[in-house]
Amino acid sequence: MDVTFADGRTFEDWSGSMFVNNIGLGRPEVAKELADQAMRLAWADPDFLTDVRLALAADLRSILPRSLTTVHYGVGGSDCMEAAVRAARKATGRRKVLVFSYAYHGDTLATESLSDGMTPYGDPRPWVVRVTSPYEFWQTLDDWDAAYDAALEGFESALRKAGPRTVAAAVVEPVSGSYCGVPVSVSLGRGIREACHRHGIKLVADEVITGFGRTGAWFGSPEAGLDPDAIVMAKGITGGYAPLGAVAFEASWARILARSGFPHGLTYSGHPVACVAARATIRILRDERLVEASAAKGALLLRRLREVADDHPGALRDVRGRGLFVDLELRGRRRWKRGAPHPAAARTLRLRAALEKAGVLVYATPDGGNLLFSPPYTVDQERVDRLAGLVAGHLQARTP
Ligand code: PLP
Repeated sequence: MDVTFADGRTFEDWSGSMFVNNIGLGRPEVAKELADQAMRLAWADPDFLTDVRLALAADLRSILPRSLTTVHYGVGGSDCMEAAVRAARKATGRRKVLVFSYAYHGDTLATESLSDGMTPYGDPRPWVVRVTSPYEFWQTLDDWDAAYDAALEGFESALRKAGPRTVAAAVVEPVSGSYCGVPVSVSLGRGIREACHRHGIKLVADEVITGFGRTGAWFGSPEAGLDPDAIVMAKGITGGYAPLGAVAFEASWARILARSGFPHGLTYSGHPVACVAARATIRILRDERLVEASAAKGALLLRRLREVADDHPGALRDVRGRGLFVDLELRGRRRWKRGAPHPAAARTLRLRAALEKAGVLVYATPDGGNLLFSPPYTVDQERVDRLAGLVAGHLQARTP
């Protein structure tokens, strides 16, 4: 998990290289398999059923929730999110899409509108309905149960306001990703599932970050009570060795798409070399029991950081997460305001700088209030202990 920059400095990468590095980079066996595939078949028409695409679909079916049977390939998360939205529109004949605030779902012309605060080019899509997230309610209510209840109420009321029969899909991450690491509670997940079911709305789980073991399970949806109609995957699907995305659809939805046709694809969708990278990644996760490792090391990390939080309640507000996706939120003095920097932004960035000085790279959320720890699942206990020690040491030094 170490990365060395051009100036010779080496860091432990606790950011997981934007959440792609799950199995560890620099594995020669994966590199060799990619080279072999490039010699055998470097490219194939995205509509062709090549052996490696079929084999990967079988691998994916063996780890996905059983209801999700049919795989559509893309090149990454954003285009696969667009595929899911298009497919939901095709199946329902409706247009609108519900998303939570403080969520990120991509950066193309359409998906930037699904991502909160991400329309720098000034073209927000009118069919996007944004619902207040648990993270936002947590800031004002200061209680997670109340925040989840309020988020579900908000989801249902946004649905009523939008007109449920105009909504094609709801997009939800099992643990909200790069804007704030907040797991969906089972009550919220089930509530969303039930509301979507009642109104014939397709529930799309964005598992671009949470998929492939990040939450300590192959996918994060089951533990969040989501039971989605489709899962969007990217990032960890290849462990960073090649670009690939995929959407897995539930069977009856896939049948509708097969009947009606589903023209959606890019030249490099389902690239054969990337499919080999995904197959190798899944094999390594399985053979080395790395999903189990993510659960165990994640639990240890959570425990260690919670011990630090117990010792420094004035500095640390919350430690939360699932598997090796752990969020540390600091406490600020000012009141929280939507869209503004987090009240603890300055403190958080100081802690991040201290970690960096000690050779640890970590990702800070755009509001500046949270650090996200998402190392490769090969991280060992010593490094977990050292990381918690570094956080404790920094806070100790700053306590008067
Ligand atoms: N969804 C989530 C949760 C993401 O974190 C990202 C990327 O960071 C995307 C979708 C978009 O994926 P990509 O960057 O591969 O297009």
